[in-house]
Amino acid sequence: MISQAAPHNPAPWAAHPVEIVAKQPETVGVKTYHLRLIDHESRARFHCQPGQFNMLYLPGVGESAISVSGYDSSTDSWLHTVRSAGGVTQTLARLEVGGRFLLRGPFGSAWPLVKVLGGDLLFAAGGIGLAPLRPAIEWALARREQFGELSLVYGARSPSTILYGAQFDAWRRQGLAVQVTVDRSEVGWLGNIGVVTLLVDRLRLRNPRETALFVCGPDVMMRYVVRSALQREMAPSRVWLTLERNMQCAVGLCGHCQFGPAFICKEGPVLRYDQLAPYLGLEDL
Ligand SMILES: Cc1cc2nc3c(=O)[nH]c(=O)nc-3n(C[C@H](O)[C@H](O)[C@H](O)COP(=O)(O)OP(=O)(O)OC[C@H]3O[C@@H](n4cnc5c(N)ncnc54)[C@H](O)[C@@H]3O)c2cc1C
Repeated sequence: MISQAAPHNPAPWAAHPVEIVAKQPETVGVKTYHLRLIDHESRARFHCQPGQFNMLYLPGVGESAISVSGYDSSTDSWLHTVRSAGGVTQTLARLEVGGRFLLRGPFGSAWPLVKVLGGDLLFAAGGIGLAPLRPAIEWALARREQFGELSLVYGARSPSTILYGAQFDAWRRQGLAVQVTVDRSEVGWLGNIGVVTLLVDRLRLRNPRETALFVCGPDVMMRYVVRSALQREMAPSRVWLTLERNMQCAVGLCGHCQFGPAFICKEGPVLRYDQLAPYLGLEDL
């Protein structure tokens, strides 16, 4: 079921000490942390692919799965965009630059970027779901001439919760068609209002059956986006989703993230829609 074989992690239990080298607020309750492995040798070997995630481990508090949201070559640090939810993420939010904790990873499958090279590629994201897509977008833009049309449709609850909004114009200049919509308007918003599927319905697609679609967002958003995409005659075998499930060990042992026959931590989180479809509608999976 793996979407793109990611390099085998030979030491999945190794917890690497990391340091926050930069921290930036994104939206209310969401921050991006630039995390650098402290040990030079481990740092030189460590590499994450777009779509993979790490387990951030705050001793005495717990561990949480967080997707890689970018790489900062100037500090050799890996970016993680985190919404404060419970124990781990709230404790993390209180750490400042220089703060240290542990990281295990990288884990899971990656977006199948090499496989879709040469064609049109549509990214669809909802809310903080843009975080795991950002490194894939940047990978594609760095190879812009090797793709056909590149588009992003993005939905946020309100204008003030739009993630990475400051980057959108730069992405547009690099050749990504970006369209944004919000569920609820705020003073000064002149853009689209409505759910992200409306943008999918309205998109001009040159060749829907050959267009690849990468989706990340709340489950309900992903379901409706995929439904719209299939109605537009996109091929189920060219749609990939990233699934978020309660996760504890990240190595396929604890069973918390089992989804149908797959462990999201190992076979996922990026999975091909046609292989997931039989399980998506079942309440007890
Ligand atoms: C593959 C993957 C990638 C993710 N990427 C991101 C990301 O980039 N940014 C981000 O903000 N969040 C992300 N999440 C969700 C994030 O893992 C949870 O919000 C986080 O675990 C909550 O932990 P907590 O201790 O702060 O909250 P609590 O609610 O106190 O969580 C307690 C424990 O429950 C589990 N848990 C709770 N919610 C989730 C959840 N939604 N997914 C998985 N486990 C959960 C964890 O094991 C956690 O240790 C991702 C989840 C997965 C599975």
